[in-house]
Amino acid sequence: MKIEIRDLNLIYKNGNHAVKDINLDIEPGMFGLLGPNGAGKSSLMKILVALMKPSSGKVLIDGEDIQKVRKKLRSCLGYLPQDFRFFSRLKTWEFLDYAGSLAGLKNRRERLAIVDDLLDKVGLLEARDRKANKLSGGMKRRLGIAQSLIGDPRILVVDEPTTGLDPDERIRFRNILSDLSQNDIIIVLSTHIVSDISSTCHDMALLNQGELVFSGSPDKLVKEAEGHVYNLSLTQFEYEGIKDTLHIITSIPSETGWDVQVVANDVSGYNSKPIEPNLEHAYVYYMEHKLNGSGIAI
Ligand code: ADP
Repeated sequence: MKIEIRDLNLIYKNGNHAVKDINLDIEPGMFGLLGPNGAGKSSLMKILVALMKPSSGKVLIDGEDIQKVRKKLRSCLGYLPQDFRFFSRLKTWEFLDYAGSLAGLKNRRERLAIVDDLLDKVGLLEARDRKANKLSGGMKRRLGIAQSLIGDPRILVVDEPTTGLDPDERIRFRNILSDLSQNDIIIVLSTHIVSDISSTCHDMALLNQGELVFSGSPDKLVKEAEGHVYNLSLTQFEYEGIKDTLHIITSIPSETGWDVQVVANDVSGYNSKPIEPNLEHAYVYYMEHKLNGSGIAI
C-alpha cells in the first residue's frame, strides 16, 4: 500500500491558498505531519480522505486516483477528525455498536465481538458501560480511534488527536497508534506538538503556510540542526539584553542567572557549549531559523 500526493493545491473560495504544490509519498507505518496552527494539515487530511476535492493535483492510493474510487476508499480508510463528536446518551459499547451498524456490520453477534475487541485494543473495556459523553477527554479520543478502526482500515488518518490531553494520555494514545502501525497499515498523524512525532514515526513532513518544507525521517531533521544548538550561561543582565533576539528553546534559572538553550548559527562567549539537538530543537531550527533566514550569530 502506498499514498502518492502529486502537485496538490487547495485554494478555498475566499482565496486562502491552504495547500501549495505538495508532492509526498507515504508508505506503511506511522507518518507524522507536523506544523503550526494554520499550516494546512487539516486541509491536506480532508483531501486525503476525499472529503474535499483539491483545486489541482491528485492523491493516488496504490496508483488509483482517490477522487475516482471514493466508494472503494471508504472501505479501506479510517478517519478521526479533529472535532469528533459523540451521540449523547449512548453507552460506550452502544456507540461503537451503532458505528458498526452504520459501517455495514450486519451480524449482531459478530459486531458485538468486534466492539469488545476494539474496546480492549484502546483500553476501554472496563468503561464499556459508561456513557460515552461522560468519558474523560483522553478516553473520548481513544473511543474515536476505536470507531475509526471499525472495518479494519488499511489507512488511518488521525487529525490532531492529542490536543488538550495530559502527558499520560498523550503517551498512551501514541502507544496505541504505534501498536496499530505494526500491522502493515498506513497511519497519518497530524499534530502541532513536536513530542507527538516520536521515534515511532519512520517518516515525517513539516508543513508551513501550506508548503512542504521538509520530508524524511525524524533523524534526518535532527541531523540538520547539528551544530546549531547551544547551551549558554547568562547573568540576569545578559539574559534581559539578548532574550528577545534569540530563538530560546528552554530557560532554566541558575545560581548565577539563567541557563538557556538556543538555536543559532554561531555563538561565542556566554560560556556557550554546543549540545546534541533533539527533535524539538530541530523543529525550532527549521521553522524559526532556517526558513526565516535570520542566521543569527551572537
Ligand atoms: P492546520 O490544520 O494546520 O491548523 P488548516 O488546514 O486548518 O491548518 O488551515 C490552513 C489555512 O486554511 C489557514 O490559513 C486557515 O485559516 C485556512 N482555512 C481553513 N479552513 C478554511 C475554510 N473553510 N475557508 C477558508 N479558509 C480556510
